[in-house]
Amino acid sequence: MNRNETSTLLSLVIPVFNEAESIDLFVDEVQRVFENEPTVRLEFVFVNDGSTDTTLETLLSRQQNDKRIKIVDLSRNFGKEAALTAGLSAARGDIIVPIDVDLQDPPELIMEMIARWREGYEVVVGRRINRDSDSWAKRKSANSFYRIHNLIANPKLPENVGDFRLMDCRVVRALETLPESRRFMKGLFSWVGFRTAYVDYTRPERVAGTSKFNGWKLWNFALEGMTSFSTVPLRIWTYLGFIVSLASFFYAAVIAVRVLIYGIDLPGYASLIVAIFFLGGLQLIGIGVIGEYLGRAYIESKRRPVYLVRQVYEQGEADGH
Ligand code: UDP
Ligand code: MG
Repeated sequence: MNRNETSTLLSLVIPVFNEAESIDLFVDEVQRVFENEPTVRLEFVFVNDGSTDTTLETLLSRQQNDKRIKIVDLSRNFGKEAALTAGLSAARGDIIVPIDVDLQDPPELIMEMIARWREGYEVVVGRRINRDSDSWAKRKSANSFYRIHNLIANPKLPENVGDFRLMDCRVVRALETLPESRRFMKGLFSWVGFRTAYVDYTRPERVAGTSKFNGWKLWNFALEGMTSFSTVPLRIWTYLGFIVSLASFFYAAVIAVRVLIYGIDLPGYASLIVAIFFLGGLQLIGIGVIGEYLGRAYIESKRRPVYLVRQVYEQGEADGH
């Protein structure tokens, strides 16, 4: 292991989706942080995730006088997970750091991560010590997500951790061997394991532009995570069905006893209709859960690629078609 070598190549993998305003701010800031770090050489791997603004033009013009910038232009918007996957496989560094372009993942932290890597850790994860820059609703929903996910899924996800982390190139090459096309990166990151350290940081506000994740997208993201790493939601229906049938059996016994004691009474329409709706709803949810998994199995079985590249721009000249 040559971790103390004078020159470590650091690849930053930056998925960008309509981020024209943030790119220059981001590159300038990274440059400022690494100006006085002779032991670290930089490679920027920008993945243009089907932006509809001037993101690509901004990147290309920045690349004109900065040969360290590599641009992977995807054929459309594939989502952050797919964009990260594309960026990771294009990264050539000894160490690789996925990072958001909006400076919510502070580049200063990377030197701290590198220090831990040089101690022998293969993964150094950035952990948020507070979520003040998120809305109340986002904090609450994130908490519930982690609670439920970790109750049912394997391996567990560390809380308050995003994609911002340093990985040894061996870890990234290991990630590439995972064949699934639906890629819930946080889950995959924790699945591969390796020696892991944590560094804490406070997440600042976005420097420019707006968040690309709304409530619906986050909900689907959470579903993706849980169904990718747990089959508990499928199995739960067996037990629930068992409990409900058992309960109805007891209720039947109660009715029988009541009839024996008090004779037949007609009322009971309300409880009947409630029971019908309740069981009907339960069955629909059960079918929905099965559908969710079946859908995922179906998509996975097509073996479609995770993303498609339109063109890779490297060292100022086009490479690819
Ligand atoms: N992003 C992307 N594709 C998408 C959505 C987001 O590449 O479909 C990128 C985005 O440009 C940014 C990063 O993912 O660099 C994080 O997005 P954002 O800051 O909007 O997420 P938040 O910080 O609000 O969770
Ligand atoms: Mg952000």
